Amino acid sequence: MNNPIISVQDVSKCYWNGEVQTVALRKANLEIYPGESIALVGPSGCGKSTLLHLIAGIDTPTQGEIYVDGYPFHLLKEEKLAKLRGSILGIVFQFFNLLPTLTALDNVMLPALLQGVSPLEASSRAKELLEQVGLSHRSHHYPHQLSGGEMQRVALARALVMKPKIVLADEPTGNLDSEASQKVLYLLRKLVEQYQLTLLMVTHSLEVAKATDRILQMKDGYLIS
Ligand code: ADP
Repeated sequence: MNNPIISVQDVSKCYWNGEVQTVALRKANLEIYPGESIALVGPSGCGKSTLLHLIAGIDTPTQGEIYVDGYPFHLLKEEKLAKLRGSILGIVFQFFNLLPTLTALDNVMLPALLQGVSPLEASSRAKELLEQVGLSHRSHHYPHQLSGGEMQRVALARALVMKPKIVLADEPTGNLDSEASQKVLYLLRKLVEQYQLTLLMVTHSLEVAKATDRILQMKDGYLIS
């Protein structure tokens, strides 16, 4: 079998607010193989986003080791993490996080421009991805002119513009009605398959989780299955 593309080894995360300590993650172990689609489920506050943020290199573990595509994320400095985050990971958030002053096309192009891709190439990739999420006709619209589902589809296109190996999604349908959720989920699965991506998705919804290969449960900071 291949090596895992994500490996989490005995990882703990504590937060301190003054004297108060919160243990958000307790000795988590996890291996994800290339091409797997995984849902991370569990009640609010159990540590799902914490684990996702650690794998995204947005936060650093208090203890343990995290390897993403072979890189030791627990050892790397912010600058290197940001560079890797921009190239091997595509991230989709619950609240889309589009820049309100940029059109859909510019939002999708931006991560590529920031990573040094030429404007011509970034524009060509962005146009193709917007077509794949069915939004070519909305390319020049600003986020406030789009529905929630459309904004999330733009965010999906943006997450893929750097041709990442891994997509991390934090409640990608959490802010959408059921029709828009289904469409976003359908597109996410289609793109994951088409580009042979590895997917780790945090969700509250068992319905959404069922669309993946494997469901991991968390409770009180423990990864229990
Ligand atoms: P979930 O995503 O499952 O809702 P989180 O990973 O967001 O859970 O949070 C896990 C626990 O860690 C919660 O008790 C939360 O309050 C706490 N927590 C998360 N982020 C911080 C932070 N930056 N500072 C302090 N506590 C935090």
